[in-house]
Amino acid sequence: MSDILVLIEHRLGEIRDISFEMLNKAHDLSEQLNAPITAVLFGKEVASLADQITDRVDRVLLIEDDKLEVFHSNLSKELLSTLINDRKPKITLIGNTSWGMGLAPGVAVKTDIPLATDCVDVQVDDGSVSVIRQIYSGKVFTKVAFPNSDSCLVSIRPGSFPPDKKGDRKCEVEKMDFPFKDEELKREFVEYIETAAGDVDITQADFLISVGRGIKEAENIDLIRELADTLGGVMSCSRPVVDNEWLPKYLQVGTSGKSVAPKVYMPIGISGAFQHVAGIAGAGSVIAVNKDPKAPIFRVADYGIVADLFKFVPILKDKVAGNK
Ligand code: FAD
Repeated sequence: MSDILVLIEHRLGEIRDISFEMLNKAHDLSEQLNAPITAVLFGKEVASLADQITDRVDRVLLIEDDKLEVFHSNLSKELLSTLINDRKPKITLIGNTSWGMGLAPGVAVKTDIPLATDCVDVQVDDGSVSVIRQIYSGKVFTKVAFPNSDSCLVSIRPGSFPPDKKGDRKCEVEKMDFPFKDEELKREFVEYIETAAGDVDITQADFLISVGRGIKEAENIDLIRELADTLGGVMSCSRPVVDNEWLPKYLQVGTSGKSVAPKVYMPIGISGAFQHVAGIAGAGSVIAVNKDPKAPIFRVADYGIVADLFKFVPILKDKVAGNK
Protein backbone atom coordinates (compact mmCIF):
# COMPACT_ATOMS: atom_id res chain seq x y z
CA MET A 1 0.00 0.00 0.00
CA SER A 2 2.82 2.40 0.96
CA ASP A 3 0.60 5.14 2.24
CA ILE A 4 1.38 7.82 4.79
CA LEU A 5 -0.28 6.88 8.04
CA VAL A 6 -1.14 9.63 10.51
CA LEU A 7 -2.31 8.77 14.01
CA ILE A 8 -5.00 11.27 14.98
CA GLU A 9 -4.68 12.36 18.58
CA HIS A 10 -7.67 13.68 20.46
CA ARG A 11 -8.60 14.48 24.02
CA LEU A 12 -11.89 15.26 25.71
CA GLY A 13 -13.76 15.25 22.41
CA GLU A 14 -11.38 17.48 20.46
CA ILE A 15 -8.76 16.70 17.87
CA ARG A 16 -5.48 18.07 19.17
CA ASP A 17 -3.42 20.59 17.19
CA ILE A 18 -0.59 18.10 16.69
CA SER A 19 -2.89 16.01 14.47
CA PHE A 20 -3.60 18.94 12.15
CA GLU A 21 0.10 19.82 12.13
CA MET A 22 1.00 16.27 11.05
CA LEU A 23 -1.71 16.31 8.38
CA ASN A 24 -0.27 19.55 7.03
CA LYS A 25 3.13 17.88 6.62
CA ALA A 26 1.57 14.66 5.35
CA HIS A 27 0.11 16.63 2.45
CA ASP A 28 3.60 17.66 1.26
CA LEU A 29 4.95 14.14 1.75
CA SER A 30 2.00 12.71 -0.14
CA GLU A 31 2.78 14.93 -3.14
CA GLN A 32 6.50 14.16 -3.03
CA LEU A 33 6.04 10.40 -2.67
CA ASN A 34 2.85 10.14 -4.70
CA ALA A 35 1.35 8.27 -1.75
CA PRO A 36 -2.14 8.55 -0.25
CA ILE A 37 -2.70 9.84 3.29
CA THR A 38 -4.48 7.52 5.70
CA ALA A 39 -5.65 8.90 9.02
CA VAL A 40 -6.07 6.45 11.88
CA LEU A 41 -8.64 7.48 14.44
CA PHE A 42 -9.56 5.39 17.43
CA GLY A 43 -11.62 6.11 20.50
CA LYS A 44 -15.09 5.82 21.95
CA GLU A 45 -17.80 7.44 19.77
CA VAL A 46 -15.35 9.53 17.77
CA ALA A 47 -17.08 9.33 14.36
CA SER A 48 -17.90 13.05 14.53
CA LEU A 49 -14.19 13.83 14.82
CA ALA A 50 -13.58 11.92 11.59
CA ASP A 51 -15.76 14.48 9.77
CA GLN A 52 -13.22 17.18 10.63
CA ILE A 53 -10.44 15.53 8.68
CA THR A 54 -12.11 13.91 5.65
CA ASP A 55 -11.15 16.93 3.51
CA ARG A 56 -7.46 16.54 4.40
CA VAL A 57 -6.82 12.85 3.78
CA ASP A 58 -7.52 10.05 1.30
CA ARG A 59 -8.84 7.58 3.86
CA VAL A 60 -9.93 7.61 7.48
CA LEU A 61 -9.71 4.32 9.35
CA LEU A 62 -12.11 4.56 12.26
CA ILE A 63 -12.06 2.10 15.15
CA GLU A 64 -14.51 2.64 17.98
CA ASP A 65 -14.92 0.80 21.25
CA ASP A 66 -15.77 1.64 24.86
CA LYS A 67 -12.32 0.40 25.87
CA LEU A 68 -10.82 3.19 23.78
CA GLU A 69 -12.57 5.98 25.70
CA VAL A 70 -9.24 7.22 27.04
CA PHE A 71 -5.82 6.74 25.55
CA HIS A 72 -4.38 3.41 26.53
CA SER A 73 -0.82 2.81 25.38
CA ASN A 74 -1.03 -1.01 25.30
CA LEU A 75 -4.25 -1.17 23.31
CA SER A 76 -3.11 1.62 21.00
CA LYS A 77 0.18 -0.19 20.45
CA GLU A 78 -1.61 -3.41 19.48
CA LEU A 79 -4.03 -1.58 17.18
CA LEU A 80 -1.46 0.57 15.43
CA SER A 81 1.04 -2.27 15.05
CA THR A 82 -1.62 -4.48 13.46
CA LEU A 83 -2.54 -1.73 11.00
CA ILE A 84 1.09 -1.07 10.14
CA ASN A 85 1.83 -4.76 9.61
CA ASP A 86 -1.22 -5.04 7.33
CA ARG A 87 -0.75 -1.86 5.35
CA LYS A 88 3.05 -1.50 5.24
CA PRO A 89 2.94 2.32 5.15
CA LYS A 90 5.92 4.26 3.84
CA ILE A 91 5.79 6.61 6.82
CA THR A 92 3.80 6.57 10.05
CA LEU A 93 3.49 9.93 11.80
CA ILE A 94 2.79 9.99 15.54
CA GLY A 95 2.80 13.09 17.76
CA ASN A 96 5.75 13.38 20.12
CA THR A 97 3.28 14.11 22.90
CA SER A 98 2.56 12.33 26.17
CA TRP A 99 0.42 9.96 24.01
CA GLY A 100 3.04 9.38 21.36
CA MET A 101 6.03 9.15 23.68
CA GLY A 102 4.38 6.22 25.44
CA LEU A 103 3.26 4.59 22.23
CA ALA A 104 5.87 4.96 19.49
CA PRO A 105 8.73 2.91 21.01
CA GLY A 106 6.40 -0.03 21.68
CA VAL A 107 5.11 0.08 18.10
CA ALA A 108 8.69 0.15 16.82
CA VAL A 109 9.56 -2.97 18.80
CA LYS A 110 6.34 -4.75 17.83
CA THR A 111 6.64 -4.00 14.10
CA ASP A 112 10.44 -4.04 13.87
CA ILE A 113 10.33 -0.75 11.98
CA PRO A 114 12.89 2.00 12.73
CA LEU A 115 11.69 4.94 14.81
CA ALA A 116 13.02 8.50 14.87
CA THR A 117 11.64 10.47 17.80
CA ASP A 118 10.91 14.14 18.34
CA CYS A 119 11.50 15.18 14.74
CA VAL A 120 11.07 18.77 13.57
CA ASP A 121 10.95 17.98 9.86
CA VAL A 122 10.51 15.11 7.43
CA GLN A 123 12.18 15.31 4.03
CA VAL A 124 12.12 13.34 0.81
CA ASP A 125 15.19 13.17 -1.45
CA ASP A 126 14.95 10.98 -4.55
CA GLY A 127 12.14 8.99 -2.95
CA SER A 128 14.10 8.36 0.26
CA VAL A 129 12.73 9.62 3.55
CA SER A 130 14.88 11.34 6.15
CA VAL A 131 14.07 13.38 9.24
CA ILE A 132 15.56 16.33 11.06
CA ARG A 133 16.12 16.13 14.83
CA GLN A 134 17.76 18.47 17.29
CA ILE A 135 20.45 17.37 19.70
CA TYR A 136 22.49 19.07 22.44
CA SER A 137 19.52 21.11 23.69
CA GLY A 138 18.72 22.39 20.23
CA LYS A 139 22.25 23.60 19.40
CA VAL A 140 22.79 21.04 16.59
CA PHE A 141 20.40 19.74 13.91
CA THR A 142 20.92 16.18 12.65
CA LYS A 143 19.57 14.47 9.56
CA VAL A 144 18.57 10.85 10.10
CA ALA A 145 17.90 8.45 7.21
CA PHE A 146 16.45 4.91 7.13
CA PRO A 147 18.61 3.23 4.44
CA ASN A 148 17.71 -0.34 5.40
CA SER A 149 13.97 -0.04 5.69
CA ASP A 150 11.04 0.68 3.34
CA SER A 151 8.98 1.92 6.25
CA CYS A 152 9.65 4.28 9.13
CA LEU A 153 7.98 5.57 12.27
CA VAL A 154 8.42 9.26 12.95
CA SER A 155 7.26 11.09 16.06
CA ILE A 156 6.73 14.77 15.40
CA ARG A 157 7.47 17.54 17.85
CA PRO A 158 4.35 19.68 18.46
CA GLY A 159 4.55 23.07 16.79
CA SER A 160 6.88 21.94 13.99
CA PHE A 161 4.33 22.61 11.23
CA PRO A 162 1.35 24.93 10.90
CA PRO A 163 -2.02 23.28 11.50
CA ASP A 164 -3.54 24.78 8.33
CA LYS A 165 -5.32 22.65 5.78
CA LYS A 166 -3.46 22.04 2.54
CA GLY A 167 -4.87 20.66 -0.68
CA ASP A 168 -8.43 19.65 -1.44
CA ARG A 169 -9.16 16.02 -0.71
CA LYS A 170 -12.39 14.21 0.02
CA CYS A 171 -12.78 10.75 1.43
CA GLU A 172 -15.13 8.30 3.06
CA VAL A 173 -14.68 6.98 6.56
CA GLU A 174 -13.83 3.29 6.71
CA LYS A 175 -15.07 1.65 9.91
CA MET A 176 -12.98 -1.20 11.23
CA ASP A 177 -13.65 -3.77 13.93
CA PHE A 178 -11.97 -3.51 17.28
CA PRO A 179 -10.14 -6.84 17.57
CA PHE A 180 -9.03 -6.72 21.21
CA LYS A 181 -12.33 -6.90 23.07
CA ASP A 182 -11.09 -9.55 25.49
CA GLU A 183 -7.72 -7.96 26.09
CA GLU A 184 -7.03 -7.67 29.79
CA LEU A 185 -6.03 -4.10 30.66
CA LYS A 186 -3.12 -3.98 33.05
CA ARG A 187 -3.42 -0.24 33.62
CA GLU A 188 -6.41 1.77 34.64
CA PHE A 189 -7.19 5.38 33.77
CA VAL A 190 -8.05 7.34 36.90
CA GLU A 191 -8.97 10.93 35.93
CA TYR A 192 -7.98 14.03 34.01
CA ILE A 193 -6.88 16.91 36.21
CA GLU A 194 -7.11 20.33 34.64
CA THR A 195 -4.31 22.74 35.47
CA ALA A 196 -5.24 25.75 37.61
CA ALA A 197 -6.73 28.56 35.52
CA GLY A 198 -4.93 31.42 37.30
CA ASP A 199 -5.76 35.13 37.27
CA VAL A 200 -4.32 35.84 33.79
CA ASP A 201 -4.62 33.83 30.61
CA ILE A 202 -1.27 34.05 28.81
CA THR A 203 -2.78 32.38 25.72
CA GLN A 204 -4.87 35.53 25.15
CA ALA A 205 -2.13 38.15 25.70
CA ASP A 206 -0.83 40.28 22.83
CA PHE A 207 2.48 41.07 24.51
CA LEU A 208 4.28 38.57 26.71
CA ILE A 209 7.45 39.32 28.65
CA SER A 210 8.78 35.90 29.57
CA VAL A 211 11.34 35.25 32.26
CA GLY A 212 13.73 32.30 32.45
CA ARG A 213 16.28 30.77 34.77
CA GLY A 214 18.68 33.60 33.89
CA ILE A 215 16.82 35.66 36.50
CA LYS A 216 18.67 33.54 39.09
CA GLU A 217 16.36 33.89 42.12
CA ALA A 218 12.80 34.63 43.17
CA GLU A 219 13.67 38.09 44.55
CA ASN A 220 14.71 39.23 41.06
CA ILE A 221 11.38 38.38 39.42
CA ASP A 222 10.05 41.82 40.38
CA LEU A 223 12.52 43.31 37.91
CA ILE A 224 10.67 41.58 35.06
CA ARG A 225 7.23 42.27 36.60
CA GLU A 226 8.02 45.99 36.69
CA LEU A 227 9.23 45.89 33.09
CA ALA A 228 6.02 44.10 32.04
CA ASP A 229 3.92 46.72 33.83
CA THR A 230 5.87 49.55 32.22
CA LEU A 231 5.64 48.05 28.72
CA GLY A 232 1.97 47.15 29.16
CA GLY A 233 2.65 43.43 28.74
CA VAL A 234 1.83 40.26 30.63
CA MET A 235 4.45 38.18 32.37
CA SER A 236 5.04 34.53 31.48
CA CYS A 237 7.96 32.20 32.14
CA SER A 238 9.96 29.08 31.32
CA ARG A 239 9.64 25.82 33.22
CA PRO A 240 12.56 26.14 35.68
CA VAL A 241 10.94 29.31 37.00
CA VAL A 242 7.84 27.23 37.82
CA ASP A 243 9.86 24.27 39.10
CA ASN A 244 11.63 26.63 41.50
CA GLU A 245 8.22 27.95 42.58
CA TRP A 246 9.13 31.51 41.62
CA LEU A 247 5.97 31.84 39.50
CA PRO A 248 2.78 29.72 39.16
CA LYS A 249 2.39 26.95 36.60
CA TYR A 250 -0.32 28.75 34.59
CA LEU A 251 2.32 31.27 33.43
CA GLN A 252 4.56 28.57 31.92
CA VAL A 253 5.12 28.57 28.16
CA GLY A 254 6.08 25.36 26.37
CA THR A 255 5.20 21.76 25.70
CA SER A 256 4.31 21.02 29.31
CA GLY A 257 2.95 24.55 29.79
CA LYS A 258 0.86 26.59 27.38
CA SER A 259 1.15 27.37 23.70
CA VAL A 260 0.92 31.11 23.19
CA ALA A 261 0.41 33.35 20.18
CA PRO A 262 1.13 36.96 21.25
CA LYS A 263 1.92 39.66 18.71
CA VAL A 264 5.21 40.20 20.56
CA TYR A 265 7.06 37.65 22.69
CA MET A 266 10.04 38.82 24.72
CA PRO A 267 12.02 35.98 26.34
CA ILE A 268 14.50 37.29 28.91
CA GLY A 269 17.16 34.94 30.31
CA ILE A 270 15.61 32.00 28.45
CA SER A 271 17.95 29.69 26.52
CA GLY A 272 15.43 28.53 23.91
CA ALA A 273 15.19 24.81 24.62
CA PHE A 274 12.87 23.13 22.15
CA GLN A 275 10.29 22.36 24.83
CA HIS A 276 10.00 26.11 25.37
CA VAL A 277 10.19 27.21 21.75
CA ALA A 278 7.50 24.71 20.73
CA GLY A 279 5.09 26.81 22.77
CA ILE A 280 5.72 30.03 20.81
CA ALA A 281 5.23 28.76 17.26
CA GLY A 282 2.26 31.12 16.91
CA ALA A 283 4.07 34.23 18.20
CA GLY A 284 4.48 37.28 15.96
CA SER A 285 7.78 39.06 16.66
CA VAL A 286 10.22 37.48 19.08
CA ILE A 287 12.62 39.87 20.85
CA ALA A 288 15.12 37.82 22.86
CA VAL A 289 17.41 39.06 25.62
CA ASN A 290 20.26 36.75 26.58
CA LYS A 291 23.87 37.27 27.60
CA ASP A 292 25.04 34.25 25.57
CA PRO A 293 25.26 35.11 21.84
CA LYS A 294 25.10 31.38 21.04
CA ALA A 295 21.87 30.77 22.95
CA PRO A 296 19.42 28.80 20.72
CA ILE A 297 16.68 31.36 21.42
CA PHE A 298 18.40 33.68 18.94
CA ARG A 299 17.62 31.17 16.17
CA VAL A 300 13.93 31.86 16.52
CA ALA A 301 14.25 35.54 17.45
CA ASP A 302 13.42 38.36 15.03
CA TYR A 303 15.44 40.74 17.21
CA GLY A 304 18.24 39.67 19.53
CA ILE A 305 19.75 41.65 22.37
CA VAL A 306 22.99 40.17 23.70
CA ALA A 307 23.17 41.69 27.15
CA ASP A 308 23.19 41.02 30.86
CA LEU A 309 19.53 41.28 31.76
CA PHE A 310 20.36 42.89 35.10
CA LYS A 311 21.92 45.80 33.22
CA PHE A 312 19.59 45.89 30.21
CA VAL A 313 16.16 45.57 31.85
CA PRO A 314 16.46 48.62 34.16
CA ILE A 315 17.72 50.76 31.26
CA LEU A 316 14.83 49.67 29.00
CA LYS A 317 12.30 50.20 31.77
CA ASP A 318 13.59 53.70 32.57
CA LYS A 319 13.69 54.67 28.86
CA VAL A 320 10.10 53.56 28.30
CA ALA A 321 8.92 55.11 31.60
CA GLY A 322 10.68 58.37 30.69
CA ASN A 323 8.91 58.50 27.34
CA LYS A 324 5.45 58.04 28.85
P1 FAD B 1 18.26 27.70 30.98
O1 FAD B 1 18.26 26.70 29.89
O2 FAD B 1 19.09 27.44 32.17
O3 FAD B 1 18.68 29.08 30.32
C1 FAD B 1 18.94 30.24 31.04
C2 FAD B 1 19.43 31.26 30.04
O4 FAD B 1 19.60 32.48 30.70
C3 FAD B 1 20.76 30.88 29.39
O5 FAD B 1 20.62 30.91 27.98
C4 FAD B 1 21.71 31.97 29.86
O6 FAD B 1 22.65 32.36 28.86
C5 FAD B 1 20.76 33.10 30.17
N1 FAD B 1 21.26 34.00 31.21
C6 FAD B 1 21.83 33.65 32.40
N2 FAD B 1 22.13 34.76 33.08
C7 FAD B 1 21.78 35.80 32.32
C8 FAD B 1 21.86 37.20 32.48
N3 FAD B 1 22.37 37.77 33.60
N4 FAD B 1 21.41 38.01 31.49
C9 FAD B 1 20.91 37.48 30.34
N5 FAD B 1 20.80 36.14 30.12
C10 FAD B 1 21.22 35.33 31.12
N6 FAD B 1 10.77 24.21 29.44
C11 FAD B 1 9.89 25.23 29.25
O7 FAD B 1 10.28 26.40 29.29
N7 FAD B 1 8.58 24.96 29.03
C12 FAD B 1 8.06 23.72 28.99
O8 FAD B 1 6.86 23.55 28.80
C13 FAD B 1 8.97 22.62 29.18
N8 FAD B 1 8.53 21.36 29.13
C14 FAD B 1 9.42 20.33 29.27
C15 FAD B 1 8.97 19.03 29.15
C16 FAD B 1 9.85 17.98 29.29
C17 FAD B 1 9.33 16.57 29.14
C18 FAD B 1 11.21 18.25 29.54
C19 FAD B 1 12.19 17.12 29.67
C20 FAD B 1 11.66 19.54 29.65
C21 FAD B 1 10.77 20.60 29.55
N9 FAD B 1 11.20 21.91 29.67
C22 FAD B 1 10.33 22.92 29.43
C23 FAD B 1 12.56 22.24 30.12
C24 FAD B 1 13.48 22.62 28.97
O9 FAD B 1 14.11 21.47 28.47
C25 FAD B 1 14.57 23.58 29.46
O10 FAD B 1 15.26 22.98 30.53
C26 FAD B 1 14.02 24.92 29.93
O11 FAD B 1 13.19 25.50 28.94
C27 FAD B 1 15.17 25.86 30.21
O12 FAD B 1 14.64 27.01 30.79
P2 FAD B 1 15.45 28.36 30.73
O13 FAD B 1 15.72 28.73 29.32
O14 FAD B 1 14.72 29.34 31.58
O15 FAD B 1 16.79 27.99 31.52
